[in-house]
Amino acid sequence: MTVGIVGAGQLGRMLALAGYPLGVDFLFLDPASRPPAAALAPHLCGAFDDRRLLKQLARRSEVVTFDWENVSVAALRALKQDVRISPPLAALATSQDRVAEKRLFERLKIPTTRWRAVDSRTQLERAVRDIGAPGVLKTRRLGYDGKGQAVLRSSADVERAWLELGAAPLLYEERVAFTHEVSVIGARSAGGETAVYPLNGNVHSQGILRLTRAPYGPASWQALANRYLVRVLEHFRYVGILAIEFFVQRGRLVANEMAPRVHNSGHWTIEGAVTSQFENHLRAILGLPLGSTRARGYSAMVNLIGRVPPAGALLAIPGLHLHDYAKSPRPGRKVGHCTFVARTRAQRDRWARGMLATLAPNTRIP
Ligand code: AMP
Repeated sequence: MTVGIVGAGQLGRMLALAGYPLGVDFLFLDPASRPPAAALAPHLCGAFDDRRLLKQLARRSEVVTFDWENVSVAALRALKQDVRISPPLAALATSQDRVAEKRLFERLKIPTTRWRAVDSRTQLERAVRDIGAPGVLKTRRLGYDGKGQAVLRSSADVERAWLELGAAPLLYEERVAFTHEVSVIGARSAGGETAVYPLNGNVHSQGILRLTRAPYGPASWQALANRYLVRVLEHFRYVGILAIEFFVQRGRLVANEMAPRVHNSGHWTIEGAVTSQFENHLRAILGLPLGSTRARGYSAMVNLIGRVPPAGALLAIPGLHLHDYAKSPRPGRKVGHCTFVARTRAQRDRWARGMLATLAPNTRIP
């Protein structure tokens, strides 16, 4: 049984690591010559929208999935006669366009930021007048890890932000004075069964995720997050893993964005949950029963950004699990992560603070 994966980054690599014990084989498509997942499975080297290679991927796979959301929906749609594709392409298309995403949240009555679509400098001026400042200007498409974003502190910043981003379709939204950032991850099977993981508490700096702790926050946040996630899962008759990120403001969850794939804030589930997000994604798309999403303890996951510190130093820390994605070092690049599963919340939080103090000393943890 072969799963074809468009994209062969670290998410694809961790999907393969989760799939081999289930007897699943993999085939990847990725433009990079030596992407992280290629060490584990055969790799078709070519563009994400290369029709010939996509056909080959479809012919050799039982089901096709993707490990990041900026793949071509049109190219994948052309494969639908040849192979099953999960998650649904409608969810993928929505996640690629911040305006479509906002409209979906509004339609499903999931609170989100106040926003305006911006296609001209005049529209930006009007949006800043309507929504107010501070606000965030974002490219509608192809944004990730804080790329394609500019903060406007006042209307005086319109000129600078327009020069920086104005070449692409944009969205302007209020800047949320959040106290916490959380995300929820869950799976839906083809039969309509859903399973949601304990809530993730996330800390970003410079737009990049640094730390996730789970389970996190009061039961009321978890209840809201579960309700919103299941609404999106049902809307798309979704199959696979879906993640939604929220800002927490005065006990409300305000949706920021969704990802129709396994998510960085769910990496702790490899050691910290009964079934990892990677295994549950595979179970869902292969029509197998979903596994328990229960936490085994209190987990913390710290991203390694730029370069992986010497393994000997990391592995000398008791209880630390190291995941090195075998990527070449580059500033701002996610090259690995570490996870720790504690018996108590306090022990977990102490570990997380200690790790961030060394790895990202200027990051503020709530
Ligand atoms: P995004 O690519 O939309 O997930 O943004 C990356 C990070 O930038 C978020 O996780 C937040 O830390 C920050 N951010 C993005 N949009 C906003 C906003 N409207 N208000 C406050 N912070 C934001």
